[in-house]
Amino acid sequence: MMTRPEIRHHLTDALLMAYSAGTLAEAFSLAVAAHVSMCDDCRARLGAFDSVGGALIEGCHGGGAGRGQP
Ligand SMILES: [Zn+2]
Repeated sequence: MMTRPEIRHHLTDALLMAYSAGTLAEAFSLAVAAHVSMCDDCRARLGAFDSVGGALIEGCHGGGAGRGQP
């Protein structure tokens, strides 16, 4: 029984990196957010980028794990 659509296209590293850094245009951010919400693989990769980005820009946002909660 298939309850969810098959994912054929996954997010590129560049896209995930830009999303993680917050430099992505809003329309793309929404698409990325929608994808990672249903794709464990890309969510895991995004998590890795978040760790790297967080270390690089630590202190810029003054906040922690609030991604996805504006
Ligand atoms: Zn994916």
